[in-house]
Amino acid sequence: MPAGIFYFSLLEQMVKAEKKMSEEEIEELIRKNFKMKGLIIADVKIIKMNDNTLKTGSSKLVPAALTASGAINEKWTNGVTQEEFKILQDYIYKTIKDIGKEILSGKIDLKPYNKKGNTPCTYCKYHAICGFNSKQNDNCYNYIDQKTKDEILMKMSTGDVS
Ligand code: SF4
Repeated sequence: MPAGIFYFSLLEQMVKAEKKMSEEEIEELIRKNFKMKGLIIADVKIIKMNDNTLKTGSSKLVPAALTASGAINEKWTNGVTQEEFKILQDYIYKTIKDIGKEILSGKIDLKPYNKKGNTPCTYCKYHAICGFNSKQNDNCYNYIDQKTKDEILMKMSTGDVS
């Protein structure tokens, strides 16, 4: 049973400071930057198995927090139920399969995402090769609009992700 899905940067962490810091303070900041992002199964037992030092407050390791009474702090926890996680897994497996089939059938459209004006083209080094130009008729962005977690899960469970 998955406990969640997490990631963190493997890049060497740099600490910026305006005043002299002790080695412990620097280490603390570096550790903070290595806190994992992602999605955890919203279950107190699972959260504590991921961070066995967590009693209350925010975890320093995973995206979860507990209230003073030991319950999940919804506001500071990026969590889903096991059922919701299964919906995500099924949807991702299906999407990967569909993308694989499309590539094998020769469908390799230029369709970078566009989320509130942010696109991967800003950082991409291959623009000279792909030649994407949103002003050309057959080049268009895959616009991603803001949805709540519940809306996304509902769409994934019904297969209606547009
Ligand atoms: S520049 Fe081209 S290859 Fe790079 S992200 Fe944009 S569309 Fe994709």
